Amino acid sequence: MSLTKYRGKRDFKATPEPKGASHPKPSAKELSFVVQKHQASHLHYDFRLEWNGVLLSWAVPKGPSLDPSVKRLAMPVEDHPLEYGGFEGVIPEGQYGAGPVMVWDKGLYEPQGDSAPDEQLKQGKIDVVLQGKKLRGGFTLIQTGRRSGVPSDRKRWLLVKHRDEYADPSWDIDSSELDRSVLTGRTLKEIEEGRPGKKH
Ligand code: MN
Repeated sequence: MSLTKYRGKRDFKATPEPKGASHPKPSAKELSFVVQKHQASHLHYDFRLEWNGVLLSWAVPKGPSLDPSVKRLAMPVEDHPLEYGGFEGVIPEGQYGAGPVMVWDKGLYEPQGDSAPDEQLKQGKIDVVLQGKKLRGGFTLIQTGRRSGVPSDRKRWLLVKHRDEYADPSWDIDSSELDRSVLTGRTLKEIEEGRPGKKH
């Protein structure tokens, strides 16, 4: 767990993103998750799980789905500071990931299984139960080609909803009920235009 990669990619004099505390405190019992909708060169959703004082992070191009029959590609990216979970705003042009960022969903999560999330991460499969405003219930992040001799750069992570009471085969992430910030009620366009938010 380290923020070296995260900090190395960013100029904190130019971007409003948080640098993160130098000695982040792992939280005692409650673990948070956040999903940010990010219009960088390509629109994607960033899926982040708090662990050991940082946010383990994946970029999910099509965003999470509540439909258990849908597998979403999830690309691992560098750990982010815990403070990033509250970041909503615009990364300026010329900076890494330039474009508007929305806090699309946020809440607590519970790791499942016998081993810790970072241990599960090494083994290529993480099970969690999310308690968000949009995402609820069980999800698995699983790495493909775990047992075979597939080179690690050819392995892929997938994000899949469990078949539980929160599963929804009619889920459409582009629907108008789902396209606003859970922090400020703004759309990506309103964030980009710098419109003030209202508490939801
Ligand atoms: Mn991103």
